[in-house]
Amino acid sequence: MNRVKGKICIITGGSLGIGRACAQRLAEEGARIAIFDLLDEPGHAAIDAIQARGAQARYWHVEIADERSVAAAVAGVAAHFGAIDVLVNNAGIAGANKPTHEITEAEWDRVQAVNVKGVFFCTKHVIPHMKRARAGSIINLSSIYGLVGAPDSPPYHASKGAVRLMTKTDAMFYAADAIRVNSIHPGFIWTPMVVGYLRAGGAVDLELARGALSKHHPLGHVGEPDDIAWGVVYLASDESRFITGSELIIDGGYTAQ
Ligand code: NAD
Repeated sequence: MNRVKGKICIITGGSLGIGRACAQRLAEEGARIAIFDLLDEPGHAAIDAIQARGAQARYWHVEIADERSVAAAVAGVAAHFGAIDVLVNNAGIAGANKPTHEITEAEWDRVQAVNVKGVFFCTKHVIPHMKRARAGSIINLSSIYGLVGAPDSPPYHASKGAVRLMTKTDAMFYAADAIRVNSIHPGFIWTPMVVGYLRAGGAVDLELARGALSKHHPLGHVGEPDDIAWGVVYLASDESRFITGSELIIDGGYTAQ
C-alpha cells in the first residue's frame, strides 16, 4: 500500500497506456502524481480516477519536445507539491515504420525530438530539484528495441538505444547526489501505441495480429501496462535504493532467446 508513500512523481505520457498505469499504481502506493501529456481529455480522466480513490494528482498540458513547455510544467509541479522525487520519462512515439532509405529527415527528427530530446528536457529541469533534495529516482522508458534490432521503425530503435545510454550517463553524473537513474525495456505491451503500430502495418483483425505478436514472446502473450507499472513502482521506491544505471527488462522472454 505505501511503497512510495508521500513521493511526488511526474509521469510523462500519463494520459494513456503504460504511463496511465504507472500513475495509477504509484498513486495506489501512496505517491502524489503529476501527469504531463498532450492529450488533455484522457489526462483529466486519469486524474479524476486517481482522485476518486483518495490520492492527490494534477494534470499539466506539456509538449515534452518543447523546452519552455517542460520548464514551465516542472516549475509548476515544484510550486504545487513542494518537491519532485520521481520522474518517469515515459512519453514516446513509434514514428515512421519503413526502411531506413525511405525515411524523411522530418520523420527522423520528430521521433528523436520526442523520444530523446523530451527525455533530455524533462531530466534537465527536474535534476536541480533532486540535487537540492539530495535524493531522486529517474526512470526512462527505453524498449527491447534499445537492446536488440528488428527490421522496422529505424528512428524508434535509434531513439531507444539513445535513451539506454543517456540513462547510464546520468546515473554516473548524479550518483553522488543520491539520484538514481534506470531504464526499463518492455516487450510488446498492449497499448494504443501497439494498436496503432499494428494498424499502420495493415492489420484488420486486431486479435489475429495480437496472436501473431504474442508468438515472439516465450511466455506466449504480449504484456499489459501493469506489467511495466509494477517495475516502475519498484524503481521509484526505496526498495531499489542500491540500483542505478541498470536495465530492467520486462519482455516475456523476448530478448532471452
Ligand atoms: P501510447 O502511445 O499508448 O501512450 C503514449 C502517451 O505519451 C500518450 O498519452 C501520448 O499523448 C503521450 N505523448 C506522446 N508524445 C508526447 C509529447 N510530445 N509530449 C507529451 N506527451 C506525449 O504509448 P505506450 O505504449 O504507453 O508507450 C509508453 C512508452 O513505453 C513509450 O516511450 C514507448 O516507446 C515505450 N514502450 C512501449 C512498448 C509497447 O509495446 N507499448 C514497448 C516498449 C517501449
